[in-house]
Amino acid sequence: MFSTVTLTLSLSIRSIIRAKRCFQHSNPVHAAMHKRLISAFVQNDRYIIVREEDDDDGGDDENGNAMKFPDVWLRDNCRCPQCFHQSSQSRRIDWDKFDIKVKVQDISTDKLEKSIKVKWSDQHSSTYDLEWLRERDFNATRRNKYLTEFYRPKPVHWQKSDFNKVTNVFKFDDVINNDNELKKWLESLAVYGVAIIEESPLQKDVVRRLAERIGFIRKTTYGEEFIVQSKPGAKNYAYLSHPLPLHTDLPYYEYKPSVNILHCMVQSVSKGGSNTLVDAFYIADQMKLNYPNHFKVLTETIVDWNDIGSEDGKSFHNIWRSPVICLDKEGNYTRINHSIPQRDSHFSTDIENVIPWYEAYSKFVQLAREEAAEFKTKPGDVLTFNNIRLLHGRTGYDDTEENIRYVVGAYLDWDIIYSKLRILKSKSGC
Ligand SMILES: [Zn+2]
Repeated sequence: MFSTVTLTLSLSIRSIIRAKRCFQHSNPVHAAMHKRLISAFVQNDRYIIVREEDDDDGGDDENGNAMKFPDVWLRDNCRCPQCFHQSSQSRRIDWDKFDIKVKVQDISTDKLEKSIKVKWSDQHSSTYDLEWLRERDFNATRRNKYLTEFYRPKPVHWQKSDFNKVTNVFKFDDVINNDNELKKWLESLAVYGVAIIEESPLQKDVVRRLAERIGFIRKTTYGEEFIVQSKPGAKNYAYLSHPLPLHTDLPYYEYKPSVNILHCMVQSVSKGGSNTLVDAFYIADQMKLNYPNHFKVLTETIVDWNDIGSEDGKSFHNIWRSPVICLDKEGNYTRINHSIPQRDSHFSTDIENVIPWYEAYSKFVQLAREEAAEFKTKPGDVLTFNNIRLLHGRTGYDDTEENIRYVVGAYLDWDIIYSKLRILKSKSGC
């Protein structure tokens, strides 16, 4: 692998630069006297190889330690002002005239070893910075590093017994005032899907202040901030506020809100009223491992999710059709849908899929129940979790006038969170 360290080293040692245009597996001739050689040449007519090698490598490991770029990709990504608009950081190359069969006519490395120059068959000339190229190397390790360190942190799935270990706790003032704490909170959310912010003021604007620290609240049919409370029981008449079974919020939205932030302002003093949380990605792992047929059914059978009602005098009827476990083309989990109340009686699937689906779903529900971590937030705590991945619920509690629970919630979207995380990472240089 190339690295910044290697580049620094190569620049600090006086080395010989050679540039060579050669075709069909040609090997550059070694004329070097020094430790580092950098060469660029065309291979198999369509690929540009950029190689750094030690003098004593002997040149036998052709392309083993080299970067390889398709010619059309390089031409498409020319950084000159004509092809790329610097201030908006966007491509401005004229694709109506773009030749996808463009060829290299000449290639060289510049005298300071920092860039590769290419003259193209369309008479255009391009210069590519070595470090810029390195960051875009098609090598699998480099791509994976970019995907997990910059695009999106890699999730770590957890089981019930790991809940306390994975749930990082932050202080409200730190998250509001310190960019590094903000970054750590968002990273925790991305990796584990859960984090708690404590010592927040008992004010209704806490969720808004947190959301606006990142971007903005994701609005839904139910507005921006929402209140979660049970109607207090009649005086001297205690009744149990029913448990809220595990679920994801708003499965009936194609663009499901990504992250819940729930600010506990008043907590029930009864034994109940605990939050429950499950990493449904872990449940999916268990299903895949131990019940592969059920897993397949839950990833393939499309379920109808719905929500009918009215808010502020406006009626709505939301429907989204999607499996319980959604996968991308690489088999990664992209979204979990689960809500008993908001599963439609319309089940728009072939009839032979229905009974196997119930069998699979009941196993999923059972495993989720077994893996639910239980904890109780206290006033001032803000529970934040990934609504795409985690299931949440609440145990029942005695609801009387003296025993109420008052939570202010809001949603955020991952697009906005990941964007903020990248900005913070770029700023801090890590
Ligand atoms: Zn250009």
